[in-house]
Amino acid sequence: MKWRDYGALEVKRDDAVGNAIRAASFEYERNLAKLGNPVDRDEWFMPPMQVNAYANPTMNEIVFPAAILQPPFFDPHADPAVNYGAIGAVIGHEISHHFDDQGRKYDPEGRLTDWWKPKDVQRFKVYTDQLVAQYAQYEPLPGTKVNGELTLGENIAGLLVAYDAYQLSLGGKPAPVLEGFSGDQRFFLGHAQVWRSKYREEALRQQLVVDSHTAGHFRPNVSRNIDARYQAFDVKPGQKLFLPPEQRVKIW
Ligand SMILES: [Zn+2]
Repeated sequence: MKWRDYGALEVKRDDAVGNAIRAASFEYERNLAKLGNPVDRDEWFMPPMQVNAYANPTMNEIVFPAAILQPPFFDPHADPAVNYGAIGAVIGHEISHHFDDQGRKYDPEGRLTDWWKPKDVQRFKVYTDQLVAQYAQYEPLPGTKVNGELTLGENIAGLLVAYDAYQLSLGGKPAPVLEGFSGDQRFFLGHAQVWRSKYREEALRQQLVVDSHTAGHFRPNVSRNIDARYQAFDVKPGQKLFLPPEQRVKIW
């Protein structure tokens, strides 16, 4: 553990904008000072108290700060199905970033080398075009839809990998029924609970335009593409999030 020295950063109690500007330029200078020096492979790009996670292809690493390893993402005392649907899907998501439209551009040492064959690119695009169209139908605000291209890389990943991991963890035994819910139901509920979100209209509008992450309350919709969800909740044609089997997009 190395503590970062903020001694040179001036923070004033009555100057929020000035603090933000000074903090930004302090950080800029800190990054500039790295030039010409060896790469610090121990550096984390999020602080421990940030509820988030990331994949960093130049380091070939996935990182989960302490703050995300608590409920609703992870609870050591919770039922495994819930944890697999929650932090499991986040872990699967970050792993798959190393293999997706971004991660494919970096080799195992983090060098910028595209390791996909043209055939892989073509097949990937067939599936991702379907997912782009699927997300572009969501309309979080009247007249403003999700940008399927912008959010593609974030929409692809994670849940199906976590579902497979959960099934493997059962070792062929049936999952227990707890409080009336099957293991698969608890898995999908655990995933949906993580993404409960609330936005002011302005914040949501900004996110829809500039952010590669789909707004939180639409993220559980990715489960529409997983057959097991239909069995778990007996989802029928005509229900709001039903997709016919041929329209379910399976990439990983
Ligand atoms: Zn992501």
